[in-house]
Amino acid sequence: MEMTSASRIYVAGHAGLVGSAVLRRLEALGYRHILTATRDQLDLRDQAAVNYWFKANRPEFVFLVAGTVGGIMANATRPAEFIYDNMMIHATVVHASHLYDVQKLLYLGSSCIYPRECPQPMTEDMLLSGPLEPTNESYAVAKIAGIKLCQAYRTQYGRRFISAMPTNLYGPHDNFDLTSSHVLPALIRKFHDARMGGTREVVVWGSGRPKREFLHVDDLADACHFLMQRYDEASHINVGTGEDLSIAELAMMVREAVHPDAELVFDAAKPDGTPRKLLDVSRLHALGWTHTITLRDGIRSTYEWFLEQERQGLAVRAR
Ligand code: GDP
Repeated sequence: MEMTSASRIYVAGHAGLVGSAVLRRLEALGYRHILTATRDQLDLRDQAAVNYWFKANRPEFVFLVAGTVGGIMANATRPAEFIYDNMMIHATVVHASHLYDVQKLLYLGSSCIYPRECPQPMTEDMLLSGPLEPTNESYAVAKIAGIKLCQAYRTQYGRRFISAMPTNLYGPHDNFDLTSSHVLPALIRKFHDARMGGTREVVVWGSGRPKREFLHVDDLADACHFLMQRYDEASHINVGTGEDLSIAELAMMVREAVHPDAELVFDAAKPDGTPRKLLDVSRLHALGWTHTITLRDGIRSTYEWFLEQERQGLAVRAR
């Protein structure tokens, strides 16, 4: 059975950066039966609760895009939460999807599953070929377990459970809290606060030399839909742009969009993390999917979204 506008589709993690984008995409494409549950309604770490919810709601397709996520500091200082929450969430949702006969499930991982010293760009077959980056090892181990979980249910029960590994993501509904966010929303917040406060100095963590790849979450949501329709293999598949830049270059791009008069100050006391994380996206490109939102445009539109939240007086989400 393939996913149609009449299918019952569960987006696990619909309030987050990725889930909210998947929801927008599915709604825009005319899917009529999208199922969601808030954290208060359903604790995804609780297998009995998840089973009960699946029994009552009977989803046919599942986008498993829920998880505890965060930037380099959050990962390094809260490793227990990152490993426990993520391992539990993947296990309960995958298991319930098997018990209640879900037709297809897409599980979302992260590019941090690859070894710290991985040859660049990173192909899918580099998984488990070397030691992980220590600053996010807990998260990476949980995400790797999620891939293996989907593969095991495919092997043992013939389940159509697939995994996609996105690169660093950004966009509306991101976390802009400086202690737990990723670099791109953190820089938007820092340049914005400096402009508002009439100061020029903006602190960028680390050396500015690490390189990262960034994908707008609306592009990711489109890729998730594409893969749900078109991909059905045991191997996980990378989702990215295939282009990266240094953190210093990124900071200059955000400066241009938010506060052109600012000066960058690098704080060497903060960690750099993995030196480079660029995905090889040849497999995805060969299937016929490529991203459409350039980083420059994506930063501008994300900043507009951020400003709109500020204008409405809403607290920009801090997770
Ligand atoms: P990572 O991709 O898992 O390392 O996660 P991040 O997005 O948190 O960090 C990416 C890189 O940006 C790291 O080298 C950080 O040190 C650097 N960086 C520079 N300024 C900031 C900042 O204000 N916040 C965060 N989270 N990272 C920053």
